[in-house]
Parts: sequence; structure tokens; C-alpha cells
Amino acid sequence: MRRGLSDKMASLSRLSLNQYTVRPQWSLQQAIEGCSRHGVQAIGVWRDKLAEMGVAKARRRLATEGLVVTSLCAAGWFTAADEAGRRRSLDENRRALDEAAELAAECLVVIGGGVPNGSLGLLEARSQARDGLAALLDEARSRGVVIGLEPLHPMFAADRGCITTLREANDLCDSLGDGIGVVVDAYHCWWDPSIDEEIARAKGRIVGFHVNDWLNPTKDLRLDRGMMGDGVIDIPAIRKSIEASSYAGFIEVEIFSQENWWKRDADEVVSVVKDRFIQTV
Ligand code: ZN
Repeated sequence: MRRGLSDKMASLSRLSLNQYTVRPQWSLQQAIEGCSRHGVQAIGVWRDKLAEMGVAKARRRLATEGLVVTSLCAAGWFTAADEAGRRRSLDENRRALDEAAELAAECLVVIGGGVPNGSLGLLEARSQARDGLAALLDEARSRGVVIGLEPLHPMFAADRGCITTLREANDLCDSLGDGIGVVVDAYHCWWDPSIDEEIARAKGRIVGFHVNDWLNPTKDLRLDRGMMGDGVIDIPAIRKSIEASSYAGFIEVEIFSQENWWKRDADEVVSVVKDRFIQTV
């Protein structure tokens, strides 16, 4: 019995709650208090929630509760139809870097951005994303912030994430050098036939691992993510690859669920997250 209990405790010690799992229910202050109440030791913070609370106040509260910030979400969005738009994007990304530095976040999660209407198309968008990443990376290094590049499921290529596969993310990391790693989100990567070889290739530069599930059928491709164990993703198989690739950090539960979990009491959601984390991650 005692052995079983300690295994569970060890498992939960790696749980990080991405605060969008309880997005409408909790402010950042409430999420920080909720993590403490539930014994969750790490949190993924979103910038809109951080802005509501104020960065300095959030930093103090996080430190008081001893919470690790596994990620600050989300920056990037490098693509724009014109030069002024790309400059605005870089300015916004600089603010995100400052916030990530102040919170001592383990990484700043960055996505590529979509394909702006009237632009030259997907190849040009990818080229802009690469240039934006290179520009941001110089400043990230000087602030000591690690960039976590998160490839998104290809269904988001038009509106938010022109970088769609782990292979593309690995290629970018290879060409850009130190200070940038990849974030593997099960929802975005589970379908990829090359997932295991690309996770192996990312050895030493995996800076985040996000878990959730893909419901079948799903009511909304973005906002009907499932709780681990309710869908079709083989999460233990992905975790095995990730750990074989030397990642031993926190595992962030990130579930956008307008259809279900966002309608429930947040304490109930966190309790289910903990149970499923032990049982199915
Ligand atoms: Zn994610």
C-alpha cells in the first residue's frame, strides 16, 4: 500500500496546471491559490490573465506559494501582411520576454502565426516566422529567457500556427542555435507518423510537454479538448518517447474545453486532472 501511495505522489510532483484548463472560472490569483490548495507545484500562466493581475503582484504571489512557472503563454504570432504589422508583433514579443523574465518562467511558449490574407502565402508566412524567431531569440538570450517553440496541429496553419510539425520545429532549432527548444503538445502532435523520431531528435531541447486528449467525435476542433483518458491519444506512449529523450521536467495539463470542463466548478476540474494524471499520463 505504502509503495503505491508514494508512486502516486511522485507522479503528481510532476503535474503543472496550465491555467487555461480553468480559463473562465479562475483569475490568475485564484489559480495560484487553487494550485496551493490542491498541492499542485507548478503552473502555466497566460498573458491576458497576467495583465489583469499585474506582473509584479503575480511574481510575489507565485514566490510566496513556491509555485514554479513552467510556461508563459503565448507569444510569437510573427506573421503580418506588412512591415508595420511585423514591427508591432516584435514589440509585443519583447513585452512577453520581459514578463517571462520577471516570472522566471521555464520557457516562453511561442507559436508561428497564421497566413495573413493578401500575403504571399504559407511559404512566405513560414519565412516571416523564421525571421521573427531569429530576431526574438537574440533578445531572449540576453534576458535569459528560453523560447519554447510549439508546433500546432496543421488545422491551425491559416489562422495561428504556420509551423505545424515537430520536424519543422526541430529544423528551426537546428538552424537558430542555442536558447530555443520545442514544446510537445499531445493535442497538436499525436497524429504525426514521425512523432517518435522527431522527439528523439529533440533530445536535450524539449522544454515543455503538454497533455490533454482528442475526443472522437469532437464538437469544436479548438475548444473541445478532452481530459486525458477520454479520447484517442496514447499519452503514455508519447511520455515514454519524451522521457527516452531525457525530458524529466513538469508535465502541463492544458485543456481548452468550452464544451465541458470550462462549465464545471474549477476545484472539481483540478481534482479530476489529478486523478487522470495518475491513472492515464
Ligand atoms: Zn500547448
